[in-house]
Amino acid sequence: MNEECPKCGAKFSVTEVGGGGICGACREPIDCPYCHETVREERTTGTFISTLIKVPDSHLARYLGISDDDWEEMGAELNANTGNSGEMTYCYWFIVPEDTPEEVLHKTGWKTGQIIDDIPLDVVDN
Ligand SMILES: [Zn+2]
Repeated sequence: MNEECPKCGAKFSVTEVGGGGICGACREPIDCPYCHETVREERTTGTFISTLIKVPDSHLARYLGISDDDWEEMGAELNANTGNSGEMTYCYWFIVPEDTPEEVLHKTGWKTGQIIDDIPLDVVDN
């Protein structure tokens, strides 16, 4: 079975090992192999092994509601807003490029040439 981690968005598959026993079933955790959070628990006489299929999209992509591939295809350039002093970064912004795929525009409601502002620092990994 394939799962998506609700915490980090990683995709992984879960394999039950030693399940199907007659008695002695107890709740075993299914852990995300990427962030190691317990996604849920299920009754089994065995244990669960989870295998990472796809690492989650970056914080930025998830914040914007797109995938990393979308972001790359857009080729947008992220700019730091350093305010008046120019010393401290307050947030990030970018302009939606002319050749942004239609699908991305549809998904996000952006228009080409639009400025997407106020992107928090903590969604941008340096
Ligand atoms: Zn996770």
